Amino acid sequence: MRPGLRLGVDLGGTHVKMALVERSGRVKALVQVDTVKDPRVLVARLKESVRPWLGRKLLGTGVGVAGDVDPAQGSVRFSPNLGWHHVPLKDLLRSAGFPRPLFVENDANAAAWGAYHLEMKRRCTHLIVLTLGTGVGGGVVLNGRLYRGITGSAGELGHVSIDPDGTPCGCGSSGCLETFLGAAYLKDWMRREMERQGRKMPDQWSPQDMHKAARQGDRMALRLWERAGRALGVGLANFINIFNPDTILLCGGIAGASDFLLRYARPEIRQRTFQTPRRAVRIRVAKGNQQLGVVGSALLVE
Ligand SMILES: [Zn+2]
Repeated sequence: MRPGLRLGVDLGGTHVKMALVERSGRVKALVQVDTVKDPRVLVARLKESVRPWLGRKLLGTGVGVAGDVDPAQGSVRFSPNLGWHHVPLKDLLRSAGFPRPLFVENDANAAAWGAYHLEMKRRCTHLIVLTLGTGVGGGVVLNGRLYRGITGSAGELGHVSIDPDGTPCGCGSSGCLETFLGAAYLKDWMRREMERQGRKMPDQWSPQDMHKAARQGDRMALRLWERAGRALGVGLANFINIFNPDTILLCGGIAGASDFLLRYARPEIRQRTFQTPRRAVRIRVAKGNQQLGVVGSALLVE
């Protein structure tokens, strides 16, 4: 990877983060603007926000977008968050004069690429990144390169099936890993359990509260993490069996409860994997860097 600055853009449904990023992954400058749904208006606004940077010598632009992205064409096939269908984002950015070359990638893949550089310092070869937040996202780095698959759709690790008869998932399937671990689903599970016991869900609820409660020995909280942790273990065993990775990295807010999650995940992994690949993989918890998406996007420019 060449020394020099790249422009990274992390395009989410609410905010757009833009940063100048060094080869090491260090952020030199960062701006954030609100998302506008009209792609042309948005690109013009982004251009305006980074205008002071464009006088510098930049090596190119990388963009991570929430949705179904075609990295080969640099287009967004569909983004529910943005309400986009077939937006030729790379062409729009090129016409607006963004530094070339330009790369467009799914945001979870870009964040996994950022984690490979920032969290792992590139000290691994085959990396599985699982991001545990409101939903469950992921990315796969094989031989030190982001694995995209034939259509750029690889790495949807939150939507591997754990239970074919499980809870319906937002993706249209059911029993996905996300339905056991996503914060929104954890909350639903909690509400159902409390109603079953004739109790009312507290107004204020967070996975962090549940983590604290589990540490204090609360039985329902322990059951919540047991269910989530076992599903995580089944999912990780699948990833170990498929990819034989040297490292699995858990990112995102829910990874803060990894002490409980891994307590219940490890027996599942032991039961479902061969000894050799199991011994070869290390499971790490990320330090919680907030800029993985924008840094990973920038570092798409090699
Ligand atoms: Zn799903």
